[in-house]
Amino acid sequence: MGEPHVLSVEEVLHDHDTLPERGLSSAEAERRLGEYGPNELVERGGKKAWQIVLAQVRDVMILILLAAVLVSLALGEYGDGVVIFVIVVLNTALGFWQEFKAEKAMAALKQMAVPLVRVRRDGAERQISAKGLVPGDILLLEAGNVVPADGRLIAVANLKVQEAALTGESEAVEKETGRLEGDAVPLGDRRNMVYTGTVVTYGRGEAVVTATAMATELGAIASMLQDLDDGQTPLQRRLARLGRSLAMAAVALIFVVAAMMYGQGVSVRETFMTAISMAVAAIPEGLPAVVTISLALGAQQMLRKKALIRRLHAVETLGGVTVICSDKTGTLTKNRMTVTEMVLPRRRYVWDRAVTVGQDDDLGLLLLTGALCNDAVVGAEEGAVLGDPTEGALVLAALKAGLDPGELKSRMPRVGELPFDSERKRMSTVHALSSVGPGGIVGRVLSLAGGRGRHVVLTKGAVDGLIEVCSGLLLNGAVEPLTEAEKKGIAAENVAMAEKGLRVLGMACRFLEGDELDRPGSYERDLVFLGMAAMIDPVRPEAVEAVGLCRQAGIRPVMITGDHPLTALAIARELGLSATGVLTGADLDGMSPEELKERIRDVSVFARVSPRNKMTLVEVLQGQGEIVAMTGDGVNDAPALKAADIGVAMGITGTDVTKESSDMILLDDNFATIVASVKEGRRIYDNIRKFVRYILTGNTGEIVVMLVGPLLGMALPLLPIQILWINLMTDGLPAVALSYEKAERGVMSRRPQDPQEGVFARGLGWQILLMGFVIGGVSLGVGYRCWSEEAASKVWQTMIFTTLTFCQMAYALCVREEERSLFSPSFASNPVLLLAVAVTLGLQLSLVYVPFLNALFRTAPLGAGELGLCVAGAMTVVALSEGRKLLSRRRNLR
Ligand code: ATP
Repeated sequence: MGEPHVLSVEEVLHDHDTLPERGLSSAEAERRLGEYGPNELVERGGKKAWQIVLAQVRDVMILILLAAVLVSLALGEYGDGVVIFVIVVLNTALGFWQEFKAEKAMAALKQMAVPLVRVRRDGAERQISAKGLVPGDILLLEAGNVVPADGRLIAVANLKVQEAALTGESEAVEKETGRLEGDAVPLGDRRNMVYTGTVVTYGRGEAVVTATAMATELGAIASMLQDLDDGQTPLQRRLARLGRSLAMAAVALIFVVAAMMYGQGVSVRETFMTAISMAVAAIPEGLPAVVTISLALGAQQMLRKKALIRRLHAVETLGGVTVICSDKTGTLTKNRMTVTEMVLPRRRYVWDRAVTVGQDDDLGLLLLTGALCNDAVVGAEEGAVLGDPTEGALVLAALKAGLDPGELKSRMPRVGELPFDSERKRMSTVHALSSVGPGGIVGRVLSLAGGRGRHVVLTKGAVDGLIEVCSGLLLNGAVEPLTEAEKKGIAAENVAMAEKGLRVLGMACRFLEGDELDRPGSYERDLVFLGMAAMIDPVRPEAVEAVGLCRQAGIRPVMITGDHPLTALAIARELGLSATGVLTGADLDGMSPEELKERIRDVSVFARVSPRNKMTLVEVLQGQGEIVAMTGDGVNDAPALKAADIGVAMGITGTDVTKESSDMILLDDNFATIVASVKEGRRIYDNIRKFVRYILTGNTGEIVVMLVGPLLGMALPLLPIQILWINLMTDGLPAVALSYEKAERGVMSRRPQDPQEGVFARGLGWQILLMGFVIGGVSLGVGYRCWSEEAASKVWQTMIFTTLTFCQMAYALCVREEERSLFSPSFASNPVLLLAVAVTLGLQLSLVYVPFLNALFRTAPLGAGELGLCVAGAMTVVALSEGRKLLSRRRNLR
């Protein structure tokens, strides 16, 4: 087998034992999949279990603790050694379990992000996962696809491919099917090949797959993989930084405490162990892990709501979104188009079953144009069409009126085309007339040609642009000049229909002469205007609701559409969007940067917008400090999605390119899903603040006890094992459980969080310090009372130990609601947390009352009065927290 680019199409097909019109059989494809393996560049599986364990064990904190185990054993303190070891193992197990769960959630998301591709197998078109492609498959490509395997082209229609990923050349390359001479042709010049990872920017094509997976050119340089981003999110980075600063502070603290203890005559061994425990107490080692888990589980939760997260940072950014720019068609509306009326020069047909082609030849021609200048195909079920809904509506209208689009296509085969693009907003196809006989509606096309030309261009598209490239008008079978007055009449009809919220497509035709067939640039000029078709696309009822919710939540919904400004305004009104004005792409192009800033502030509807304009919108809005979510589906939307804070791609109608540049994919293309994800994002961000508050308050409390205790004369208020227990076990379970908290009431009736604010904003930092001091103070207070009564050291230490745990459990319940009372009806809404608190309390009581554990943790059983005192300590925390919430509610009321 030679290199595929030097072979002819027939030779390549023969080499790969495949047929262009049938493709491989399913059985053969299955066999080849076994032989060549799945079409994947690298495994998308994520970290393996043992890798997670290794990462956990390599953690500095764990290493220090293991050193502590060794020191204890060396000093003959076997009990301590074993207990610390068990705590480390339990803690690692908890960490492993969480991370494993997060890892699995992320791996599942990655699997879902594998794109679908179109192939021909068993003689029919199929959609399969890109992973299932095998050499010999007939691959169908269109604008917007990321090429999923290497292939030799066997058919092209204006196919252009951007190969920067492979060759660095950013200009798209026009492709062809002819064979090339010589093996030495560089990749960039192999115009009859397509390569994995490159992007189809225009046109369509078919290719035989010649290489998959690591055998592809991209596989050869596999590092250039556009994979999902596993990088840290801003929040994770910020918390990691916080962890490092606290570690530094901890070191300083350890020296202070060690000096104090040594001064009070504590043994070197005890001092050493305490220092280690202090380090563990001061560093919130669990925090980054809980954040990651919370984000990953959040992503999983969003998937249930039909939002597929591709980049983890989106989960935390979503909560802060202030503007959602959404496409209209399909996202705010149902994208279920139905033709409702057809307007011809000087007459109109309101669309119902009574309209037939026989009634009016001009109407027949209009319908024929709609049906032929069209890539949608009639499906097996009645009324089902595959392809673009706008085109589907036209096919159905033709069918209803008595035309057979399939037959039309075979009698007037397509020989050329200028595909639709969202800049021109129209498309043209060229059809051969050689097999058309006289009679019928097709015959009429011929008679109209009057013997001129053998090919006809059929064009459909946005009326305002189309009218500019028309010079004639069809009226009762005759071509008349398109006068200014006629143009005005057409424009007025267009406006009247747009005002009803209808999408209007104009149609036109022309007969090609001379060598025009070979010059696609000449197709769209001097056209004859045939008429217009108007279609309705109902708004999604759930989008209306979601727009209302955005309003409440302080988020500005913005509609962006390629449609007519009046259609856009009418739909905006139906949706309840602020429809005070509309700006078009042309308006945007003509404005100075200052004007842009000014106007964009109060306009929320943008029409006749091109992808370039979307980019401008994102930039201007971001310049005003907004956090922008932007949806996109077309080939050219990718840059705007990348620039937006949250790029949102459409799962159903979106192109591969937009999906790959997005942060999140809407599996149901629905605007309401974005809003639901924002709500979820706010919930997750709130929960992160909750466990940050919980963990850091607990740590502060522990440090206060350890620092202030010796000052009061209580040399070792907590034993090292006790601190370790509190820090690694007591803190861990409830913190994880807090990430399961449901959304607080009213999450969507407050403004988005300020993008500039950190996690500690809105007084969180102060509250952590304050409550930390309270918890530390209360615990010491309870212990001090006992100590001053000259109780055994075991007893007062146990009291401090127990009060600290009780206070933290109480606080875990208090932090659930920012403002609402702990005793609100939602008390039972998070069973995981209640269970975590119950288990931790149970464990604490067993440390106090089980004799064997007494020995290990140096605790003593407490009497009822003493235990009551510990409980009372915890109640102080509840009372103070309730008091703060009450004040805050009062303040808000005012
Ligand atoms: P969105 O709201 O999702 O951005 P849109 O449907 O509003 O998308 P486009 O698909 O770019 O925007 O369509 C813009 C205009 O192009 C339409 O108003 C219509 O006049 C014209 N148009 C749309 N689809 C076709 C098509 N298949 N063939 C010809 N013209 C089309």
